[in-house]
Amino acid sequence: ALYPADGTDADALLRNATAALEQAKLSGDRYQFCTPEINARVAENLSLETKLRHAVANQEFVLHYQPKVELKHGSIVGVEALIGWQSPELGLVPPLKLIHLLEETGVILEVGAWVLRQAVIDYRRWMEMGLAAPRIAVNVSIFELRQSEFVEVLREAIDDEGRATGIDLEITESLIMDDVQEDITKLRTVRDMGMSVTIDDFGTGYSSIASLAKLPVHAIKIDRAFVASMLADPNAMLLVETMISLAQSLGLKVIAEGVDDEEQAMMLRLLSCDEMQGNLFS
Ligand code: MG
Ligand code: MG
Repeated sequence: ALYPADGTDADALLRNATAALEQAKLSGDRYQFCTPEINARVAENLSLETKLRHAVANQEFVLHYQPKVELKHGSIVGVEALIGWQSPELGLVPPLKLIHLLEETGVILEVGAWVLRQAVIDYRRWMEMGLAAPRIAVNVSIFELRQSEFVEVLREAIDDEGRATGIDLEITESLIMDDVQEDITKLRTVRDMGMSVTIDDFGTGYSSIASLAKLPVHAIKIDRAFVASMLADPNAMLLVETMISLAQSLGLKVIAEGVDDEEQAMMLRLLSCDEMQGNLFS
């Protein structure tokens, strides 16, 4: 990054040089000068980051709770907290897109902590209203799990003088396997705090059966891509079947997500999947 075209102060130059470095790594080149396109992307990310930070302060994030249904009797056994961004400019930004933005801009830590606190508040409110509050599963991103104070953040959000807070965690498969030993230690603590852990987006990462058996987790959630394609694609069907029997023989519960129609639900029932969630239910 060259002065003055790519920045007039050290911060800007360093930021643009870092962006060019990332680009060089992606392309496999040995070096990469900063370009207007790279510059533009950095600027775009910066303005987005500012908007996302404002969104935290202005309470523009919302949690929607999607029920998880038990397959035998159809009763609701829990909910997953899905975050949306009610942006004044962009409208409602859905979870998948939003998580990506949050991770890219680094705002995920702040927002992740907010999600935990809000889920606890909602759970308590339901309890105080005398409702049979379902347990709430909160998604945890790689950036949250990998921060050294992860357990402290968690404890601060959910600790309530020993009262049950009804919070469980979902962690994406691909990230859980990078540093298994470290993760096992953290997840044990989480379990001892009374939370269950689900491996999310199962089937998309690289977990070996050996590491799956070692992890202190309670359930796997089959990635929606398999559920969406299993009725048309025999290979996907075979994978779903295999994931269910593998997980169940390891003593884990199996949840299928992205269940959108009755045929999918029927097939999952036939395969003895334990729980489902998706637009078919709510
Ligand atoms: Mg999830
Ligand atoms: Mg998922």
